[in-house]
Amino acid sequence: AQHFLTRAKTHQALGAYIHTNDEVTLAQARAADAAIAAGTASRLAGVPIGHKDLFVTQDFPTTAGSKMLAGYQSPFDATMVSKLASAGAVTLGKLNMDEFAMGSANENSAIGPVRNPWNTSRVPGGSSGGSAAAVAARLAPAATGSDTGGSIRQPASFCGITGIKPTYGRASRYGMIAFASSLDQAGPMARTAEDCALLLSEMCGPDLDRDSTSLDHPAEDFTLHLNDSLAGLRIGVPAEFFGDGLSSDVRAAVDAALKEYEKLGAKLVPISLPRTELSIPVYYIIAPAEASSNLSRFDGVKFGHRAKDYSDLVDMYKKTRAQGFGDEVKRRIMTGAYVLSHGYYDAYYLQAQKIRRMIADDFQTAFKDCDLIAGPAAPTVAWALGGKSDPLANYLADIYTLPASLAGLPGLSVPAGFGEGGMPVGLQLIGNYFAEAKLLNAAHQLQ
Ligand code: GLN
Repeated sequence: AQHFLTRAKTHQALGAYIHTNDEVTLAQARAADAAIAAGTASRLAGVPIGHKDLFVTQDFPTTAGSKMLAGYQSPFDATMVSKLASAGAVTLGKLNMDEFAMGSANENSAIGPVRNPWNTSRVPGGSSGGSAAAVAARLAPAATGSDTGGSIRQPASFCGITGIKPTYGRASRYGMIAFASSLDQAGPMARTAEDCALLLSEMCGPDLDRDSTSLDHPAEDFTLHLNDSLAGLRIGVPAEFFGDGLSSDVRAAVDAALKEYEKLGAKLVPISLPRTELSIPVYYIIAPAEASSNLSRFDGVKFGHRAKDYSDLVDMYKKTRAQGFGDEVKRRIMTGAYVLSHGYYDAYYLQAQKIRRMIADDFQTAFKDCDLIAGPAAPTVAWALGGKSDPLANYLADIYTLPASLAGLPGLSVPAGFGEGGMPVGLQLIGNYFAEAKLLNAAHQLQ
């Protein structure tokens, strides 16, 4: 823990950590030492991890990358935090992120951007950019992230690490600040699939009293099948993931990974996910709609930022929200309120929900012919800081991660080589519901 805290300080310029507290971390580390000495240690005893600043923590402030929560201290720990702590993990601190997890480059954080450790003039991806950069730069052996439309998989791809989003409902959302509740899932980010398997085993499991969308599905030891043979595994390769928008360097790295799987005995099966392109408009209706509702709680009354000078209650709300939220968050709230409004609900929100169902059905059709689906995690490698100022250009880059999110399927990104500028490329693997063990097995075999 001391080693990583020191590295976090000497690499502050990366912008990965938002809050650290040596005293708190070292006290947790000493407690882990004592448990090891007493022979009562759990599996992750003494393993230092960073938490995305979206998981509320009693011992550290939580900002969700927003001015709105400046100075906020939670009275309780998120289930992900308490589960990992009871497995013995030691919290190194809280990691930078796009404000309320909205973004693909970590440039929407009110605290400032995160830099990609492979090339500090490039973005680390987002929204879990601090988590990905911290692991890639060895400022933490592992970190938590959250994935609503790709925020674990895409930054893992951009930073050359491994990250997995489990089946929707397997990891509790209790204490994870809500962005789009029907999509948000927590997951681990680490160097390898094996490390992810160790963490994910502690993160999954029912939390029925505290998260209404938690699934009553047992926890599982995801390390047990890492070395299973891939002989005969059918890997679906969706034509729509290899279209015009895919850059040739990413394609080459992904193709090489697929060849590797063939050498390991897997069979590549051409499949189709015909509504892949529609996942962008569908996601960018549903996610803002849910966000506009979830973010209505930030009104300056009970917690977080409150404007200083106001004339009455409504003026206080207006000024608080105008000052507290950044541009991208405001854009999403406005889009969300619009698509949910009378007269537009049927045309936008309801249509999007229908197409979301079709996208999920397309996956079930595909899984008749294959066991896993493989493709790129993102169309390009990490771009330059400030290089994509148009919000739409950011949205379009989410094309390969959004479909699994909308379907609630588990997905991961595992390093697959390097592309333009020597930047890492991730291979995305998507599984059917509860196929996390199979995903981690396939990812581990590539490493
Ligand atoms: N890039 C997507 C967005 O901006 C996904 C973010 C996420 O998964 N949290 O909404």
